Amino acid sequence: MTKWGDKPYYSLNYYLQQLYGEKVYKIAIDGGFTCPNRDGKIDTRGCIFCSSGGSGDFASSASLCVYDQIEEGKKRLANKKSGNKYIAYFQAYTNTYASLDHLKRVYSEAISHEDIVGLSIATRPDCIDDNIINLLSSLNLHKKVWVELGLQTMHSSSAKFIRRGYDLDCFENALDKLNKANIDVVVHLILGLPHETKEDILKTIKYTSSKNIHGLKLQLLHILKGTDLATYYQNNPFHILTMDEYIDLLISCIELIPPNIVLHRITGDGPKKLLLHPLWSGNKKVVLNSIMKQFKTRNTWQGKKSD
Ligand code: SF4
Repeated sequence: MTKWGDKPYYSLNYYLQQLYGEKVYKIAIDGGFTCPNRDGKIDTRGCIFCSSGGSGDFASSASLCVYDQIEEGKKRLANKKSGNKYIAYFQAYTNTYASLDHLKRVYSEAISHEDIVGLSIATRPDCIDDNIINLLSSLNLHKKVWVELGLQTMHSSSAKFIRRGYDLDCFENALDKLNKANIDVVVHLILGLPHETKEDILKTIKYTSSKNIHGLKLQLLHILKGTDLATYYQNNPFHILTMDEYIDLLISCIELIPPNIVLHRITGDGPKKLLLHPLWSGNKKVVLNSIMKQFKTRNTWQGKKSD
């Protein structure tokens, strides 16, 4: 046992269990958004790795209202759940990229559902303004709100390669505003981007860990069918991490992350029907077991090297 229960790191599961006294499940919602990186405001092609579902491949259909999507999500979880508390996870596309009226409507519909204890909103830092911060702050007074920012990397050359469409200053400005409004921020990072070395990745980990953030989502690079990354890979094959390489890299990252930062994800959850590479990542159970085994073998834990 560690101070985080049975895990050598501060898992989201442990954090939510402490906060709400029971297991809490996330339900992915499609709030009918698009993305400035797809609708032409910044680009029409999207980030190079993004599937046509806008990274929301596990969400219900936006043709259902938010309340019905929550009910559908609850049914999907019926076999494995033990509690009755959920977080509405606005996952598909850019979930603050709409009129304030639309945002108010979809967020309020989620927050007013009796089984929803919080909102998790995935977005881009260039799609957060003062009006949105005010709205999120007022919701945060009723039920907890997390904002998830898809930074992926601190390096400008990689940001250009993935067509992220904003710079590090933009990320820092949004983070600063969210910090001032007391809204917890989770940062998404991708491990294994082409042309990034282990040192580059650890630099991104140190950079984000030095900020005032609530959590990190560490995501293994997936190559999904139909993406520009799949085409790029076909024409310019680059090294894809093996499972052992990923685990070694991941543990080196986690050792550097201070123990107060919650790890919302440490692998990836690519949709199986779209996953091209690496196929080993499709077997989540094996990957997670191997990670735990390696933590034990190395006798290490989150934050061991963070000072
Ligand atoms: S910002 Fe998100 S939704 Fe938009 S293209 Fe990039 S990954 Fe996809």
